[in-house]
Amino acid sequence: MSQWIYADNAATTKLDDAAFEAMLPWLKEEYGNPSQPYSFSQKAKQAIRESRESIAACINAEPEEILFTSGGTESDNWAIKCIGPDTDTKKIVTSVIEHHAVLNACKRLDNNRAEADYLSVDKQGIVSREELRQVLELQDGAPRSQRTTIVSIMLANNEIGTIEPIKELAFITHSHGAWFHTDAVQALGHIPVDVKKLGVDMMSASAHKFNGPKGVGFLYVKKGVPLLPHNDGGSQERGMRAGTENVAGIVGMARALKVNCHDLEENQKRLLLLENMLISGLDSLAFIRNGSDNHIPGNISLSFKDADGEALLHRLDFKRICVSTGSACDSVNTQISHVIKAIGVPESYAKGTIRISLGKSNTIADVEAISSALLQIVGGIQKEAYR
Ligand code: PLP
Repeated sequence: MSQWIYADNAATTKLDDAAFEAMLPWLKEEYGNPSQPYSFSQKAKQAIRESRESIAACINAEPEEILFTSGGTESDNWAIKCIGPDTDTKKIVTSVIEHHAVLNACKRLDNNRAEADYLSVDKQGIVSREELRQVLELQDGAPRSQRTTIVSIMLANNEIGTIEPIKELAFITHSHGAWFHTDAVQALGHIPVDVKKLGVDMMSASAHKFNGPKGVGFLYVKKGVPLLPHNDGGSQERGMRAGTENVAGIVGMARALKVNCHDLEENQKRLLLLENMLISGLDSLAFIRNGSDNHIPGNISLSFKDADGEALLHRLDFKRICVSTGSACDSVNTQISHVIKAIGVPESYAKGTIRISLGKSNTIADVEAISSALLQIVGGIQKEAYR
């Protein structure tokens, strides 16, 4: 049986070997509850402390600014729904291309008499700084309750890989007195991320997107940001998210992030090389490459003329190649994705969109196999259409 070629790393990544090894003791021998005072449990408490320090160092934050969560979805929901003050007149600004973890959190608040403004993007998927400035300027001078509480813009888009101008967007946001959150789920561990340089107040991350385990992530919350607790109960996470910690997950996440940050430049170079090989191998096909030149290495969104993304996915699956039609979290939805619509891909191309996302385990042989499969499948479809 031939091997799978996994090219859906924006959906999830393979667990790093070192992260796996680091997790093992906490799944078996070292099972003490970190909150208990005896020495057996204190080792788990120390492992959590060291993991928090290690993660903070990777993003230039303080350890107390890292709050562990169950992943990106929870971090996004927490940041958006629980930013204080606790009023029901919250105003949010976000973009039309956010992940559904952000969009649906905003929608729920919208239903509860809060309001959300959605910024548009250009053809490359870049959020307009000017539009943000205009939206916030309109509210200048209005009572606090009528002004924006939080702006949430992703650091990199999951479907097309575009990296957003977060530093500038955060600066504009702060000059109008609002808080700034970024969803860095697709970026962290793949491009340099420094919360101080970016100037963000909150940042979401998810371990399984950077070769860590699934079901664990964190929310960076800058000191002084008035975030309300997620769970009430015990005193874990300084009382902000009660509940016994996922020790193995936290340890695995910290190790995976450290490994990826250490190898970041090398991985980036390799992935850009693989990307270029793949794209140049498709020369004879009619397609659009979506997104910006400034993108997450390895994230390749392609819209093929006259093709059907869903059918392509299944035909590639038959050849044991894993890709996605858009957002993996939305794979039951066969309509053109909100991101592809927002960047204005022409209809004859939009339906034929797939996302190939290469990761650090992919090889030249993988890329050659993907190119040759696409040449065969899409080449056949396009020949038929032009006949
Ligand atoms: N935000 C972005 C940009 C994502 O790509 C994803 C997952 O695809 C999420 C949030 C959700 O993360 P998680 O799967 O950890 O809940």
